[in-house]
Amino acid sequence: MFKELCQKSFPKSLWVYHCNVGACNGCDIEVIDVLTPYYDAERFGIKLVASPRHADVLLVCGPVTRQVVPALKRLYDAVPDPKLVIAIGSCAVGGGIWFDSYNIVGGADTILPVDYYIPGCPPRPEAILHGIAVALGLAEKEIESVHLKQLPDRPESVPVEVEGS
Ligand code: SF4
Repeated sequence: MFKELCQKSFPKSLWVYHCNVGACNGCDIEVIDVLTPYYDAERFGIKLVASPRHADVLLVCGPVTRQVVPALKRLYDAVPDPKLVIAIGSCAVGGGIWFDSYNIVGGADTILPVDYYIPGCPPRPEAILHGIAVALGLAEKEIESVHLKQLPDRPESVPVEVEGS
């Protein structure tokens, strides 16, 4: 159903706007790699644009920091409808190694309606290309998602005795 909607909404090229909302730059480098002549995403009509107002897709990398939340909401509103949001990398998918940090609100879906998730730390360029191809209906999904609880009920912390104290 969603695949048909994507094919109808984005029948031709897909213009993407890439944003870093707190990433370490690992994912950003892989996204840029996808757009270099080596992987040549433009042959599929995927093109990086400099303004969210020209974009069909928002590529979000990194865990969402508290500071970036208002700007991220403004950015999402600036992308015209219909639009897709793709979370790239474990941090954007669910906070990654920064999950539950004091300055992180979580993955991209804590703020935006995310349509597709591409996990990995960082995901390889092939995985990013495949994820976008699945979103466009050019490739079949190969795995099903599973829901994991990231924070199990933790026992009360046990005080640690430090030698010499
Ligand atoms: S998923 Fe890994 S590479 Fe990507 S922003 Fe997070 S820590 Fe960096």
